[in-house]
Amino acid sequence: MTERTLILLKPDAVERGLRGEILRRLEAKGYGIVALDQRVADADTLAAHYAEHEGKPFYGPLVQYMGSGPLVAVVAEGEGVIAGFRSLAGATNPTEAAPGSIRGDLAREWDAPVIQNLVHGSDSVESATREIGIWFPSLG
Ligand code: GDP
Ligand code: MG
Repeated sequence: MTERTLILLKPDAVERGLRGEILRRLEAKGYGIVALDQRVADADTLAAHYAEHEGKPFYGPLVQYMGSGPLVAVVAEGEGVIAGFRSLAGATNPTEAAPGSIRGDLAREWDAPVIQNLVHGSDSVESATREIGIWFPSLG
C-alpha cells in the first residue's frame, strides 16, 4: 500500500550541507516528496514529536540539538516508504549503521550528550500519522 512517512533532516544535516545528498538518496530510491519545509522547530513541536522519549537521560540534549538550528521537515510517499526510509537511514548509532546507509556513510559519533545522526524517519504507520499531524497540520 502506498503510505506516507515524516522525515526530518536534522540541524546537523543542514549545517553540514547534506540536504541535497540525503534528498538525492530519497528520490533516487523512487520515493515521492509530498511536502518539504525548512524551519527552526519550537519547543512545543519538539516535545510533541519526541514525547515517547520524555524522561530518558538524552531527552534534554535531544530537544536542545533538534532546536539548535534550522531543520528540514519532509513528507515522503511510496510503497513501503516507512520501513524503506528507515533502511536508507541505517541504525540509530552511526558507528553501527551499515555502510551504504545515510548514517553509515555520512554520520559518525562525537563526544556529545546526544547522538547526532542526520535524519529522523517515522517508525510505524501510527507514528507517521501522528508526526505528519505535528509538522504539517494541513496534511494531517
Ligand atoms: P531513531 O528512531 O533511530 O531516530 O531513534 P530513537 O527514536 O530511539 O531516538 C531518537 C533520537 O534520540 C535518535 O535519533 C538520537 O538522535 C537520539 N538517541 C537515541 N538513543 C540515544 C542514546 O542511547 N543516547 C543518546 N545520547 N542519544 C540517543
Ligand atoms: Mg525514533
